Amino acid sequence: MASVELIEVAKSYGKMQVLKPLNLSIEDGSFTVLVGPSGCGKSTLLRLLAGLESVSDGDILLDNRQINNLDPADRDIAMVFQSYALYPHLTVAENMAFHMQVKRVPKAEQQAKVLQAAKVLAIDHLLQRLPKDLSGGQRQRVAMGRALVRSPKVFLFDEPLSNLDAQLRMELRAEIKSVHQQFRTTTVYVTHDQIEAMTLADRIVVMKDGYIVQQGEPLEIYDRPVNTFVARFIGSPPMNLFNGVFAPRAFADDSKINSDAQQQLGVQCDALWFALPEKWRQAAEGNAGKPVTLGLRPHDIFIARAASENDAQEAQPKATLRLLEVTGESSLMHIDWCGFALHVQCSGRVQVSVDAPIALDIRHEGIHLFDSENGQRLQENA
Ligand code: ADP
Ligand code: MG
Repeated sequence: MASVELIEVAKSYGKMQVLKPLNLSIEDGSFTVLVGPSGCGKSTLLRLLAGLESVSDGDILLDNRQINNLDPADRDIAMVFQSYALYPHLTVAENMAFHMQVKRVPKAEQQAKVLQAAKVLAIDHLLQRLPKDLSGGQRQRVAMGRALVRSPKVFLFDEPLSNLDAQLRMELRAEIKSVHQQFRTTTVYVTHDQIEAMTLADRIVVMKDGYIVQQGEPLEIYDRPVNTFVARFIGSPPMNLFNGVFAPRAFADDSKINSDAQQQLGVQCDALWFALPEKWRQAAEGNAGKPVTLGLRPHDIFIARAASENDAQEAQPKATLRLLEVTGESSLMHIDWCGFALHVQCSGRVQVSVDAPIALDIRHEGIHLFDSENGQRLQENA
């Protein structure tokens, strides 16, 4: 096991800088997931760690030791690829033992290690087969086994599940997590699939265009995305965004006779008006008329119950269901709400017909606010 540290690490191909100088600390024994859209530099970063590419600038430290110029074979880092990269003419056992063979590890030790890893991955009945006689999921297990037998300091995974069907992806995802729980080997895992990122990671690193946009614990990122890019990238379906302006609404306080009208802070998005929760008071106060982008996750919008229960929302214009996707466990509604195209998700089933008007309500605490110009998250009350 080991810690990994990247200090101002950059990578260019010719004149194109595909990784901007970046800093990243990966704790000993942690499971870090690099996530981001295709082409953002995830694989490049992993290849730099493995030593398959050299850094253009900066330092990579393994347990506080600089390894920039160390040969891949001497780094004690094992990488698992999307393409499995098994030797077709070698059996499963031989594939798994390959690295130990090169290192001249005694035969008996090789066999014991292969068998142990094969048992962990439930492929011990396949040891004498050739890769061509295995399914995709089994091949990926072999590739993982080959990495496992090396007992490396660090595991690197580059989209290992992308070639598998949904069922197998789920199975192997759990397998990878369980292997990590058993061995606690420092792991860096690359994916463009945010569900994999959320479910596997202790720590998520969101990348875009060769730089790190945000890093943190999965739920920290989900709950407080630093900008609209992360807000849309983490979470499925993506967060709904509304362009609007800060607009207080006046209401009479009936509890006090002759009282002045009170101001309730809110955001006006065309015909829709959303009251803001207390945490956004400082961001809103004194900013009436200023543009703002309001975000709501699909499960923070829901079909309103009987109108009398929530009078305030009665004033809100009705929405229209355009499309309904039902899975049995949940329903995903594609909705038009005053010109805003939204995703609304609820568990269970809904009794709404397409093109019928529906009253919607929101969970106000679920409101996110972003700067309309640069997309950055606004500051919540201290
Ligand atoms: P990701 O894994 O996030 O999809 P990559 O790390 O593979 O992205 O690629 C990042 C960028 O670097 C892409 O624009 C890609 O075209 C470019 N790139 C990767 N490898 C090379 C290379 N050997 N030569 C030139 N450009 C490369
Ligand atoms: Mg890649």
